Amino acid sequence: MHQIDPARLRQLIQEELPELIEIRRDLHQNPGLSYQETYASARVREELAKASVPFLGGLAKGPKSDVGTGVVAWLPGAAAAAVGLRADMDALPIREETGCAHASVVPGVMHACGHDGHTAILIGAAKVLARMAQGSTLPQPVRFIFQPAEEGGAGAARMIADGCLDVMPSSPRVGHMFGLHGWPSAPLGEILTCVGPITAATACFEVTVTGRGGHAAFPHFNQDPIVAASAIVGAVQSIVARNVDPIASGVISVTQFLAGDGAHNVIPSTATLRGTIRALDTGVMEVLKRRFTEVVSLSAGAYGCTTEATYEIEGLAEYPVTINSPEAVGALKAVLPKLHTSLQPVMGGEDFAFYSARVPSAFFVIGLRPPGRDSMPGLHHPQFDFNDDALGIGVEAFCRVALGMAGD
Ligand SMILES: [Zn+2]
Ligand SMILES: [Zn+2]
Repeated sequence: MHQIDPARLRQLIQEELPELIEIRRDLHQNPGLSYQETYASARVREELAKASVPFLGGLAKGPKSDVGTGVVAWLPGAAAAAVGLRADMDALPIREETGCAHASVVPGVMHACGHDGHTAILIGAAKVLARMAQGSTLPQPVRFIFQPAEEGGAGAARMIADGCLDVMPSSPRVGHMFGLHGWPSAPLGEILTCVGPITAATACFEVTVTGRGGHAAFPHFNQDPIVAASAIVGAVQSIVARNVDPIASGVISVTQFLAGDGAHNVIPSTATLRGTIRALDTGVMEVLKRRFTEVVSLSAGAYGCTTEATYEIEGLAEYPVTINSPEAVGALKAVLPKLHTSLQPVMGGEDFAFYSARVPSAFFVIGLRPPGRDSMPGLHHPQFDFNDDALGIGVEAFCRVALGMAGD
């Protein structure tokens, strides 16, 4: 255990808070979609430089971007492996409806998932830990990972490919990873996690159903792809019910049904279905995807139509299950005694999964719901805004885990 008293840690956080709130709101006002987080990336590097924390930028270049927005920073420490802390920086293609003073100035783009809060929290942790490192050695080296493209672009996978977990010139490899997410349904002050799967494996699909179009008055001369696609929507619902162990879990949701744009009396020749498949177990995920392709093809065949199904969709990577290791959750519990470990896994996806597949990791959530309120707008809602009162809580959690410092 590190010999720094909790009061000193809280004091340092309090001193940083006003600026962190300003940073969080600045990031909120200037959001960037996946791999376009140039504003956030620049602000991260500016703040790290001000705090004299060494860093490397330009990581995790996106498929269409000129320069990577990912940033990795580090502080030295006594142990042989570093503790990794991660923040995601990207925003969503949503038109903001918060009406707040720091609302997005980028039309149609907003921080509706609170990644502005995550980024500010990790900046705060770097600043506080850098101050603690002055004149003393941190118990563990710390790696700060600011990644792009959590929302579908698998920025974490590109950060890992660019070496964010590996030995760096003045920092050892990352031994454990920790990441957090603001949680609107939990009250402010609560921190929750669980051992094992915490977020789902996800895959997006697109199915093109091809038949033969023609006049709606003569269906017997056509092969109607709308009727075939309708049968598919119904049939795939049986996969979770009939092909998956009832004790396990999975979900298949069709979210888009696109067909026909001609006259009202024309049967089109194709229909397109899009949606998502999710599971909390890799084996179940494989069953769902395999059966989905089979059921889609056989269902359409009954109506004389053919199908093409793909899980490879531009900008929407498949994510594995995020699995919290008992060891990493134990380390978290040791420094956060009030941590609840009874969080139910969610069917949402998180690209933190890529880190958890490489090193023992723990992903946890921090409550955002203000005291005295029953609810607040949820993640990805146009009225969602990260609760600034949670910034200090997140910074303290990250600092404690980096310091291996027990709570009080
Ligand atoms: Zn999100
Ligand atoms: Zn998110």
